Amino acid sequence: MLKSIVLFFTVLFVFSSFALSTLPLKSHASTDTVSAIGQYDENNIFAKILRKEVSATVVFENEFVLAFEDIHPVKPIHILVIPKGKYRSILDFSEKASDIEISALIRALGTIAKKMKIAQDGFSIMSNSGHDGGQTVPHLHFHLLGGEKVAWEQTMRSQKVDIDN
Ligand code: AMP
Repeated sequence: MLKSIVLFFTVLFVFSSFALSTLPLKSHASTDTVSAIGQYDENNIFAKILRKEVSATVVFENEFVLAFEDIHPVKPIHILVIPKGKYRSILDFSEKASDIEISALIRALGTIAKKMKIAQDGFSIMSNSGHDGGQTVPHLHFHLLGGEKVAWEQTMRSQKVDIDN
């Protein structure tokens, strides 16, 4: 009797494991993130914001750059800074953008940090590229984060301590 029960549960376990392995389980890398390389997607959400088809809370704009509040802020100040040109990621931006576009973007980052009043206390700038980087929108963007300590800064510091030791 005991043998039959053990056999029954073993068969059930093996079958369930197989059935689960065939399910299209949600993978963050394959469903949420995008590649950093490839054709520019005209329908990405930031392209729509640039064309004013989708609204955004704009904090800065000039000929080359648009900056707006992130819809899901992770810090009290969370601004997305994007080039107006059609660049999927830092890869094609660094390769194809003009010097004027590149300098305009870097200058805008500093200007916006001051405008958002986070220059004094400090801030973090980051840009995710491709699947491993966690990029979810295929239009180059820089996250400008501030208003409180940024965990990334602490992570870097603790890793540095580990390396130093
Ligand atoms: P990443 O994951 O680095 O590609 O960052 C994409 C960011 O875009 C995320 O932080 C989102 O919260 C933000 N985002 C997505 N859609 C919108 C939108 N319509 N307006 C503002 N931010 C957005």
